[in-house]
Amino acid sequence: MVSTVSVRAAAKINLHLGVGAVRDDGFHPLDTVYQAISLYDDVTLTGAVVPSLELECADYIDAGDVPIGGGNIAFRALEVIRARTGRHGHEAVEILKSIPVAGGMAGGSADAAATLLAYDRLHRTGLPDDVLLDLAAELGSDVPFSLVGGTARGRGRGEVVQPLDDRGTWWWVAVPSGVGLSTPEVYAHFDKLFPDALAEPAEPADLLSALASGEPLRLARTLHNDLQAPAVDLRPELGTLIDRGEGEGALRGLVSGSGPTCIFLCDSLDGAHAVVAGLRGAGHDVVLIANGPVAGAHLLERP
Ligand code: ATP
Repeated sequence: MVSTVSVRAAAKINLHLGVGAVRDDGFHPLDTVYQAISLYDDVTLTGAVVPSLELECADYIDAGDVPIGGGNIAFRALEVIRARTGRHGHEAVEILKSIPVAGGMAGGSADAAATLLAYDRLHRTGLPDDVLLDLAAELGSDVPFSLVGGTARGRGRGEVVQPLDDRGTWWWVAVPSGVGLSTPEVYAHFDKLFPDALAEPAEPADLLSALASGEPLRLARTLHNDLQAPAVDLRPELGTLIDRGEGEGALRGLVSGSGPTCIFLCDSLDGAHAVVAGLRGAGHDVVLIANGPVAGAHLLERP
């Protein structure tokens, strides 16, 4: 019987984020295209007498931004799956974090997905995939995608996930911000800027054929984010950063999800290195390279 399980889950970016008008229940209908990219959090669970959480962060992440008590989404994931399986007992949780926090890259969602899968494998719960996906949706709109990975369309609140045909290996440069941007604040600002937003979110029609073509320039022309205008209005320096990255050779820059991380599509790994050098030269200390699509949450072999 295994007593420790480690699961890796990836950051997401949104290649398309269509946002419809806010509904009476306060939610915005979404039509989005997610892509999992090669920035990862690893979650390790070990059976334990008392619950605990240990956190280790990449040097560009401030560990103080991540709750280590009951507010950590990994604990919520444990509660949800424990309730579903009727099991008792506790786990020690270790999170090795490389996904920027509150950056619009769904780092918390990745940890929730990784925790669900690690618990499932640690205790051999036998829960079918569709039940794990339902539990994931209970934890947050982006959590089902973190389980599935690859490139996928998300509808509803983003939790209804459908894998997409993606022929490319896409190279991205990601620039996190030292200061997070609250997702609810960005949506509230969207409502203020666009009081006449259509009820139905914009569809990603041209983007789907660009993805299937594998051609970076075609994909660059179809990237779209309805939350970019409110994010840039709240944080004008994001607009400056996007212009700068495009000036350094990126095919296209945009805000990732609700921001403040900005992502830049490049034509190749060499192209990405050139953009990194340019942005570092312009004073951005943390500039990351990632490729996508990569797998959803998956077990790590232990040495
Ligand atoms: P999304 O794009 O899904 O809105 P995000 O990438 O903007 O997410 P997260 O990194 O998921 O943001 O963090 C959002 C907030 O969740 C943080 O400010 C933090 O306080 C809280 N949080 C709880 N658990 C975690 C966790 N395991 N990792 C990161 N943040 C967590």
